Amino acid sequence: MFLHLVKLNNLNMSNVPKLNISLDKTTPIACEECGNTVFTEGALLRKASKILIGAQQDALVPIPVFTCSKCGHVNSEFLPAELKS
Ligand SMILES: [Zn+2]
Repeated sequence: MFLHLVKLNNLNMSNVPKLNISLDKTTPIACEECGNTVFTEGALLRKASKILIGAQQDALVPIPVFTCSKCGHVNSEFLPAELKS
């Protein structure tokens, strides 16, 4: 649900529709590495081969993620399932 919203809105928080739940029903997310609870927006970049997509040039595919504001770690739960190792 969370990742779905982020993708739909391209990390533009002002466009995130208001969820009809109280914040005390939500759970905090902390950095897996350092426990920090503040995250900044970032993007993973993947390259799609021009052969694969049938285009003239390779394409960059940005994948929005949140990174820890202290150590830069990206929690595995923020990654698309295909990219989890
Ligand atoms: Zn961290």
